[in-house]
Amino acid sequence: MLSLTLKEVSLAFREGKISPTELCKKCLNRIKKTQHLNAFITVTEELSLKQAQQSEIRLSQGVPKGPLDGIPFAVKDNFCTENIKTTCASKMLKDYTPPYNATVVQKLLDQGAVLMGKTNMDEFAMGSGSIDGTFGPVRNPWSYTSTYRAQSGASPDSDWVVTGGSSGGSAAAVASLTSYLALGSDTGGSTRNPAALCGVVALKPSYGLLSRHGLIPLVNSMDVPGIIARSVNDVATVLGVLQGLDIKDSTTVPAPAALTDLPEDFDVRNICVGIPKEYHAPGLSEETLAQWSRVADLFERAGARVERVSLPHTQHSIVCYHVLCCTEVASNMARFDGLEYGHRSKTDISTEVLYSSTRHEGFNDVVRGRILSGNYFLLKQNYQHYFVKAQKVRRLIADDFRQVFASGVDVLLTPTTLTDAARYHDFTQEDNRTRSAQEDVFTQPANLAGLPAVSVPVALSRRGLPIGLQLIGPALEDKKLLCVAQWIEQRVDFPFMSDCGVSQESLNHTGMFKREETSAV
Ligand code: GLN
Repeated sequence: MLSLTLKEVSLAFREGKISPTELCKKCLNRIKKTQHLNAFITVTEELSLKQAQQSEIRLSQGVPKGPLDGIPFAVKDNFCTENIKTTCASKMLKDYTPPYNATVVQKLLDQGAVLMGKTNMDEFAMGSGSIDGTFGPVRNPWSYTSTYRAQSGASPDSDWVVTGGSSGGSAAAVASLTSYLALGSDTGGSTRNPAALCGVVALKPSYGLLSRHGLIPLVNSMDVPGIIARSVNDVATVLGVLQGLDIKDSTTVPAPAALTDLPEDFDVRNICVGIPKEYHAPGLSEETLAQWSRVADLFERAGARVERVSLPHTQHSIVCYHVLCCTEVASNMARFDGLEYGHRSKTDISTEVLYSSTRHEGFNDVVRGRILSGNYFLLKQNYQHYFVKAQKVRRLIADDFRQVFASGVDVLLTPTTLTDAARYHDFTQEDNRTRSAQEDVFTQPANLAGLPAVSVPVALSRRGLPIGLQLIGPALEDKKLLCVAQWIEQRVDFPFMSDCGVSQESLNHTGMFKREETSAV
């Protein structure tokens, strides 16, 4: 039951094979059994059961609210949820309870979907590992598969792989079958990266297609709510519910088309798939490269036009992202001053000391580092040299995409990440900041240009860990992108419906994280 698609669950509800309450209890049970993954910061058990019961009444009366009525979902802990803690995995907000729901959360609730809880992440969504939150790192469910364990030889307590991030809790929640879908946020790849490493699908919609109202901002000019689910069609169903204008977010645009189910037999003979040569980046693993070529061949054999294309400014995107991200972070984080929101230091001998000690105690070193860099880039004498120049580079990167799409390319096919998931031990040994920056080399350009991008799992590596590929399309062509993504999904036969790494053995595993802070501060 837990591995069905949304359409299949709705059918099971209608046929009376299971009720929303029974399904909700199954998911809650699964959340308990997978606590060692540390995917959730808050589980809303009581509320979930109440929502499921209400859904059950509607369904029994034959008046479901929509395709998501009774469907369990999870939400990254940087989306505001009414009367439910919203921590951004930070000490700064660890007791913050918003008085309202983010628009995307409200839209899911309005459809009758059942909230299971809030998921773990990197603090304030800064990171690519989900290892930098104040509630401890998230473990990738695939660390527990027999293939990975056989080659690892070590115990799951000492050897496990990261989920990627920063929406690692959301990806792990979907992969470990505790929720059918999850919201993440994607500023530089934070939904696609963990989805690729956890073997699930993630869409970063076109900028403006989904409302950011109630998403605690990281980089306003790049943030978008992302959708994580187990199949491309499930993602499309959720996008259909969430897309469109929101009066509370002036950057939203009207949905270009209503979205229902994707066609089962999308014809790729009329499409042109671009392979950007600059994405053959240093650090790209042989296995990921092989999968990239395999899927490009599948397109060619099916009659699609596959062309090598150039996006010449790609090499500047990491640095450009870094400058713009830090400048917007410096401004966004200014609201956390110990007076209005969240943590307040007890050291308050003067206003200045109160500010600085609150921020020193409340933020981890990643967040503090970005605030410092951002303020440096914005100094009067540096502003032109860093901020203005980065804006110009951003335009060049966006123009690269525009030219390629204007030349007839429909979608770009690229890897999502350089390699499969890293061992936690290795990830933390290296300088995580550098690693984090490198990891986003394939995902950040789409954020800089505001384009839709989707990651689809395509294969398992020799270590038994998922590898994902990414499709990037022109702005507001999200539907077409999903059609092409589903075409890939239908052909690669990715085994994510097995037990998603949560074997009986790991269900009995006792090495659970304690719900207490393990801050890197
Ligand atoms: N890894 C990137 C960063 O740390 C992207 C984060 C995100 O998409 N939220 O900025």
